Amino acid sequence: MTLDGNPCYGACDLSREASGDILVHIGHTPLGRGDDERVIYLPLSQDADLAVLSAALPLLERRIVGLVSTAQHAHLLPEAAAFLEARGFEARIGGPTPRTPLRGQVLGCSYGAARETGAPEILFVGTGLFHPLGVALATGARVIAADPFTGQVEVADPGRLLRQRFARIERAKGAATVGILLSTKTGQRRAVLARKLASLDPSRSVVIALEEVTPDALVNLGFDAYVNTACPRLAYDDSMRFPAPVLAPPEYEIALGRRAWEEYVLDECG
Ligand code: SF4
Repeated sequence: MTLDGNPCYGACDLSREASGDILVHIGHTPLGRGDDERVIYLPLSQDADLAVLSAALPLLERRIVGLVSTAQHAHLLPEAAAFLEARGFEARIGGPTPRTPLRGQVLGCSYGAARETGAPEILFVGTGLFHPLGVALATGARVIAADPFTGQVEVADPGRLLRQRFARIERAKGAATVGILLSTKTGQRRAVLARKLASLDPSRSVVIALEEVTPDALVNLGFDAYVNTACPRLAYDDSMRFPAPVLAPPEYEIALGRRAWEEYVLDECG
């Protein structure tokens, strides 16, 4: 047996250590892309105290409420739905979708289960604000984030993120050189998209294959702006760390005048 000691970001980032017959991938659900038969996925479920739902109740303004979470806590959603139903709400859980095999599961690159609820208000049970903000942008719903570990509840307001993204797009408009980032990771490689983006402005853009999209790598490459076709989270999550604007594909379309700001959408992998 060999343990792969490299960093791993998700099921999109399978080990390429080829010494065994079977690869056991721990912690993530499969992405439904006809993955290699030699891969066995062992997702992890983490129990949590749902007392936080009582704290979330005063923030709920609508009778119909969608429920979403990440893979670790998606198994808690039926219990959360029963809690809400007992208090007069109609609780909806979407999915599974091809990329998110658990009911109610969302990924930073896939919010189909949230959209499927069709709910005007969505309760995210889990940690952090990245996924709630993504759900808000992907669905247009009002999103409440309930963290079962800290007990904190808050409305996820994507306004600040949108203002930051607008500033990045404006900066990228003046770029003389644009690097279109193409991931070499197993499930992050969107080659067709990268080539299509490069064809939009071939005189100043070039496709760059990269294993790790890091601030140091972008400093060394030295382009004025980048477009990220690797994990969509990179453009949104790490933007303050990068030395130049790193746009998501729909944002690059806005910078080129091919999409209106009013048509802003989140970058998703499916
Ligand atoms: S959000 Fe990024 S790291 Fe997570 S599964 Fe999607 S591409 Fe992979």
